[in-house]
Amino acid sequence: MSLNKNNIVEFLLDIFERRGADSYLGEAVTMSEHMLQCAECAAADGADSELIAAALLHDIGHYTNEFPDDALEQGIDNHHDSAGGSILAGFFSERISECVRLHVLAKRYLCAVEADYFAKLSPASVHTLNLQGGPMSKAEISEFTANSYHQDAIRVRRWDEAGKTKGVITRNIRDFEPLLQSLLV
Ligand code: FE
Repeated sequence: MSLNKNNIVEFLLDIFERRGADSYLGEAVTMSEHMLQCAECAAADGADSELIAAALLHDIGHYTNEFPDDALEQGIDNHHDSAGGSILAGFFSERISECVRLHVLAKRYLCAVEADYFAKLSPASVHTLNLQGGPMSKAEISEFTANSYHQDAIRVRRWDEAGKTKGVITRNIRDFEPLLQSLLV
């Protein structure tokens, strides 16, 4: 299968529906519950549709084993942030794909610059923070803040932290289909 403008949204929705019940790395919620909660947090925070979509799709890179071979040939690796950004790039705006690509860097940034941010991380996220390089160095902070989408990525990251609560009612992934279709470039 090759991804194109006509099938990318169905490709993404299908992953949510078939694989969304997968556990989310030691969290109390499933993968799809987490991503849907993040989208609802974005909407509740008054985010525009691009950022709602970025929140909804930010962890799609955990499903690289669902991605077509030709996507993998384009250099998608097993880092879920860059893999997610790569699979969305070209189908959605750069703002959306960059927010997805930057969402782990945003965690490392926030842990470096906000004294109380580390305390907001779940135990699983503390564990991955260490694997991801820990809080950013000064040089990494300079590089991150030079990216014109870094403020948006920070917002996505805050919703990421907030979207891990068991039992929260959200819309269904299919409810987001029109939004995703409308954002195709
Ligand atoms: Fe996440």
